[in-house]
Amino acid sequence: MQPLDLSAIDLVAAIRRGEVSAVQVAETFLDRIARLDGSINAFLHVNREAALTRAADIDARRKAGKPLGALAGLPVAVKDALCTKDQPTTCASKMLAGYRPPYDAHVVARLRDADAVLVGKTNMDEFAMGGSNENSAFGAVHNPWDLSRAPGGSSGGSAACVAADMAPVAIGSDTGGSIRQPAGLCGITGLKPTYGRISRRGLVAFASSLDQIGPMARSAADCALLMETIAGHDPGDATSLADEVPRYTEMLEKPLNGLRVGRVREHFGPGLDPEVAHGVEEAFAALKAAGATIHDVELPHAKYGIATYYLVAPCEASSNLARYDGAHYGHRTAARPSGEFESPLVEMYCRSRAEGFGPEVKRRIMLGTYALSAGYYDAFYAKALRVRRLIRQDYLDAFQKVDLIGGPVSPTPAFPLGEKTSDPLAMYLVDMYTVGTNLAGIGGISFPCGFTKGGLPIGFQLQGPALSEPLLLRAADRYQKLTDWHNRRPKMPA
Ligand code: GLN
Repeated sequence: MQPLDLSAIDLVAAIRRGEVSAVQVAETFLDRIARLDGSINAFLHVNREAALTRAADIDARRKAGKPLGALAGLPVAVKDALCTKDQPTTCASKMLAGYRPPYDAHVVARLRDADAVLVGKTNMDEFAMGGSNENSAFGAVHNPWDLSRAPGGSSGGSAACVAADMAPVAIGSDTGGSIRQPAGLCGITGLKPTYGRISRRGLVAFASSLDQIGPMARSAADCALLMETIAGHDPGDATSLADEVPRYTEMLEKPLNGLRVGRVREHFGPGLDPEVAHGVEEAFAALKAAGATIHDVELPHAKYGIATYYLVAPCEASSNLARYDGAHYGHRTAARPSGEFESPLVEMYCRSRAEGFGPEVKRRIMLGTYALSAGYYDAFYAKALRVRRLIRQDYLDAFQKVDLIGGPVSPTPAFPLGEKTSDPLAMYLVDMYTVGTNLAGIGGISFPCGFTKGGLPIGFQLQGPALSEPLLLRAADRYQKLTDWHNRRPKMPA
């Protein structure tokens, strides 16, 4: 029994039946982390001892015939934006270096309650701001398919660790594409659920009206398994939805006959890499072969998505990140007052923030503060909110005609590390296909639909109406039952 050959669903079943022990499973993945992560840098913190102790406890409980949770023995890697009380939580920022939260994020608590084994915290763009993982204060993540390329971001560590089999599943967060884009660039499956489907309590806030946690795994079926544990109402997050959590894994089997999938012509415009376009068209053809029908739909305001997102997100970020001032939260400067500032207190704030935040986070705070300032609020922020409503209305109109909308996740396959770091606008444009989902508050899933001639994964995205996760997962699962892209592995040293 080779743990690496099993899906998460099969791993959990095998552990439950005693065919493999939770300790063996944990060791398999921890050993791989020890061997491979030096060249990938997917983890900011690995929890070896605690994970093995936890796994041994699960094995002992199984032998004693005691009840086990739904994810008993499943190793899970968690993005470092989620609070974990026994492990550091840094959001890949110097601002939070060494921080140990006093509590677990809601999702982390649910994973523990389900007897999952937390193997570590994954690298990311600082405060989840970025699309390449190069904004981490602790070094970039390398894409397992080509170590000279970016894994995408901001959940790049979560995507890379699953792609390299260092964990069977991972948790990410998605504010403008941060689950789907790295999943696409690393050849794995990632679900951004409807806003509010999963509690954000204990997720370090970036843009609170857009942030959503979600599962990342090799397959849609494994994402469905995680969803059953992490989704659901939490009175501690006022935006979390009270709707009942479906049995996602039991809703996969139904065929796709009659499913109406929309195709947006503008998605295939300038900027889309021809190999990506080809892979995406093939995925439409495969969905059609599986019984779906393909229809042209329009999202007339999608072209304003990037402009809208890059106002709304920085505005909310500038407000959310105000708490890191060296007094309330975060790094505090060691510098003595110089007398050059209006007061020692102001100097402490300024120096702490200047030292703690990286350049992209500073850029977002400045953009957001500017757009929210008295003279510009209506021209920028209020206007962006109005356009956001139009973008959402486009989706509502489109979903009158189709059940889901398909298309590319990213305009290009994984790009070389360093290629876009000096050009923030080029980096922002990478998000052109993903930000609409967050602005509309709906669901989206990304999964591999082919490879370039150079061997890089190509991602396909399906977007669906609010609470359409069962359908998104079913469509992706059906596709994966008919294709094999999601089973391909990067060549890694044995
Ligand atoms: N790449 C986008 C950004 O930089 C999305 C980030 C995210 O979803 N957290 O803001």
